[in-house]
Amino acid sequence: MKVPLLDLISQYATIKEEVLAQVNEVLDTQRCIGGPKVEELEEAVAKASGCKYAVGVSSGTDALLNSLMSLEIKSGDEVITTPFTFFATVGSIWRVGAKPVFVDIDPKTFNLNPELIEPAITKKTKAIMPVHLFGQMADMDPIMAVAGRNSLAVIEDAAQSITSTYKDKKAGSIGTCGCFSFFPSKNLGGIGDGGMVVTNDESLYHRLFIMRNHGMEPKYYHTYVGGNFRLDPIQAATLLVKLPHLKAWSKARRKNAAYYNKKFKNTPVQTPFVREDCESIYNQYVIRVPRRDEMVEYLRSREIGCEIYYPVPMHLQECFSSLRYKEGDFPESEKATKEVLALPVYPELTDEMKDTVVQAVLEFLG
Ligand SMILES: *Cc1c(COP(=O)(O)O)cnc(C)c1O
Repeated sequence: MKVPLLDLISQYATIKEEVLAQVNEVLDTQRCIGGPKVEELEEAVAKASGCKYAVGVSSGTDALLNSLMSLEIKSGDEVITTPFTFFATVGSIWRVGAKPVFVDIDPKTFNLNPELIEPAITKKTKAIMPVHLFGQMADMDPIMAVAGRNSLAVIEDAAQSITSTYKDKKAGSIGTCGCFSFFPSKNLGGIGDGGMVVTNDESLYHRLFIMRNHGMEPKYYHTYVGGNFRLDPIQAATLLVKLPHLKAWSKARRKNAAYYNKKFKNTPVQTPFVREDCESIYNQYVIRVPRRDEMVEYLRSREIGCEIYYPVPMHLQECFSSLRYKEGDFPESEKATKEVLALPVYPELTDEMKDTVVQAVLEFLG
């Protein structure tokens, strides 16, 4: 039995008519930029995230970039983040001319280890960018405490964790602002690129709003240099159909994760750790296994989808070599890149499919 890592076709089949109707509305009105769908989605995502304001943008990457630009982070500044993340986190810091400063992860959650942040702070530090990896939020209380003591902004990279919670607070609602991605493989995915920034800070909201449209206000008068970071209304229309399902889809992912956890008990498979005070939305179900690379080959030969998120930590990426980090600088992140493996966890998986995955993993381990 074939089991893909993600199957968007089966999900689309359940909402196809509604999506087509919503997209048709956009096409019929020819409101091709901005408009009521974008505004409606902003309101809905702000509400779902426990935030006052939201600004729809062109991608998760542009959500991060717009946040950094709106907070006036620039050349000469430093931003503290994790080396165990998707490239966009660090790429966005680099692109505003600031210097990414890495601190290692907590090996249990794969998220920033808050204890390591304070020693990394210098006079140049302007912000902390925690990443809520795989669907679970970072340990925000100590992160906010250290940010408060040092007057730093906190930009939550919540691309993988929309509506996930930490002590009953939603992802994106604790820091200065939070960034979401609507990349199709995220829990709330569009039919192309899209993203959003949420915040409770009114003046930051205003800046984000202007910055997404070339820093223009009023028309053809530019106070800041922004960009074209606008969210496509066809994406907004699609996401408006999907958002009401997000709760049930996340629940189904948690159910799948619990199913795997039970089957992998007392085996060499290290199942994901979720803190008592967190609820994960399982953007990925990531295990640690011995002989990981061999297992990838074995699973693929059995047509079972799996993926390594992420094989190379950011401090060892060629494009950041001028930062002069070296192997051994962040041992937990480096260890994770060698051991992690993501298995299919999408909501529509059947028990038979999960059993096929479990069987193959355990067969390989003998
Ligand atoms: C997906 C992702 C992004 C970037 O989002 P895009 O919409 O693809 O630009 C940023 N950070 C993390 C952690 C992500 O997983």
